[in-house]
Amino acid sequence: MVSTRAVYRFETHRLQRHPDSVTSVSFRCLRPACAWSVGPTEDADKASDDCIRHAAETKHRLFASTAEDIAAVVPVK
Ligand SMILES: [Zn+2]
Repeated sequence: MVSTRAVYRFETHRLQRHPDSVTSVSFRCLRPACAWSVGPTEDADKASDDCIRHAAETKHRLFASTAEDIAAVVPVK
């Protein structure tokens, strides 16, 4: 959770995860010349299983991972 506080237009604000946000994840194989990737998807368990399956089939074991959600700037009262 991001908890940055800053003064903007004489009000203190905080950046936080939007309550309606759903985290999506994606993974990309880091082996050169391999274009395999999965996501973005909200099903993190399936994406993880897909990575493990790709590693088992190819011996490619390193992945770049990204998780994304929605953040909102809100005033601190
Ligand atoms: Zn790969």
